[in-house]
Amino acid sequence: MREACGVVGVVAPGRAVAHACYDGLYALQHRGQESAGMAASDGRQITVVKDNGLVSHVFSEPTLQALGGSLVIGHTRYSTSGSANWTAAQPAFRPAGPAGFALAHNGNLTNTSDLAASAGLEAHDVLSDSDLLAELLARALDEGATVPQALYDVLSRAQGAFSLVVLEADVVHAVRDPYGFRPLCLGRLGPPEAPTGWVVASETPALDVMGAAFVREVEPGELVTLSAAGVVSTRLLEPAAGPQRLCIFEFVYFARPDAYLLGHQVHSARRRMGSLLAGSEPVAADLVIGVPDSGVPAAEGYAQASGIPFGQGLVKNRYIGRTFITPDQEQRAAGVRRKLNALRDTIAGQRLVVVDDSVVRGTTTRALVRMLRDAGAREVHLRISSPPFAWPCYYGIDTPTREELLATRFDRAGMRDFVGADSLAFLTLEDLRAAVGVAEGCCDACLTGRYPAPVPVTVGADRGRW
Ligand code: SF4
Repeated sequence: MREACGVVGVVAPGRAVAHACYDGLYALQHRGQESAGMAASDGRQITVVKDNGLVSHVFSEPTLQALGGSLVIGHTRYSTSGSANWTAAQPAFRPAGPAGFALAHNGNLTNTSDLAASAGLEAHDVLSDSDLLAELLARALDEGATVPQALYDVLSRAQGAFSLVVLEADVVHAVRDPYGFRPLCLGRLGPPEAPTGWVVASETPALDVMGAAFVREVEPGELVTLSAAGVVSTRLLEPAAGPQRLCIFEFVYFARPDAYLLGHQVHSARRRMGSLLAGSEPVAADLVIGVPDSGVPAAEGYAQASGIPFGQGLVKNRYIGRTFITPDQEQRAAGVRRKLNALRDTIAGQRLVVVDDSVVRGTTTRALVRMLRDAGAREVHLRISSPPFAWPCYYGIDTPTREELLATRFDRAGMRDFVGADSLAFLTLEDLRAAVGVAEGCCDACLTGRYPAPVPVTVGADRGRW
């Protein structure tokens, strides 16, 4: 699975904010490593810098200096819709309205074809769903709408997941879809009695690194407008009925462990997942290890609850970009070896409990089990801190087709045999919800098949790329 984008927006009157945005994007690098970009405004003119590559590769001191001004939005990208090439990097700019605007998007629309057709566009006319949003907004602005009016016009017809930031010459807007699939939070620069600026970001660690205090999450359907005058909140779209639907895999895997989501720190939730897994799926073993990164806190929780010692059995190469790993079946085993290596002295002769966050196709898990056995593990008992992943995601996470998912191809015994483990067990959905602490407040469609928002094609066929 791959995450699909991180967004940042900063407004701090009288201060150049490109460096702050850089820090925020750097903190969100895990949400997208294909491209990075920023759009900054000095109050009159918008300047955009974007390119393929990591944040640290795209921006240098000269480019940050060129992004002058006290308003900025930024983006890190992994593509789930449209092309992965340079032209699809964000922010997307359009010279519409008084000074043009730039847009950056985290999420995935599920009715892109219909939206494009409504504007007389073919799928090949736009680079991505984000590019389509920019184009539709530009057309509404050209007809005289303000940006909030244009956002309403376009987003009230859009389906799927979107956490957007939009830069005008003197304003940054942030808006979240009616379900709240992808996270988005608001922060404050300076003391509460005299704020010096305002920040929005996909995850709270981006606020931390920019020195911003967490204020609150942007609500589903809410439009937050940041300017020199402060923050204005508007109910742009009616929230979906029922609880919000933040992606439950933000807790399991995507978000940073130091992030807070719905008031809960992700690291603590992952520990609880492991603890509950130890209660429901015990096994006699000598050592508990976690698969870095998100499997480690779950392994700590499993070890603590089971009384089996915790150890570090795998070392991760922290300098490998995910895009470096060629995503085809033959290359996956090599990808695992590039990314992880076993600590032989620790695991040789041991009966291992190996805690990982998920099993998707099963091919990387199989390569991992083989690596542990090659390093001398006597037994390998896999414990997964989420239920079987059985349905594709249409809301901004890149997943395989349903036919490629291990959980749809085999029963539990078949899955265990495919990955080559001595035993394989999963956290139940009830325990996952309990660990997250928001019983009814998350999307879990990839685990249950219950999609809260319409999906683009018959589930079970293609992913709905267009
Ligand atoms: S389908 Fe799964 S991965 Fe996609 S938003 Fe819902 S919980 Fe997250």
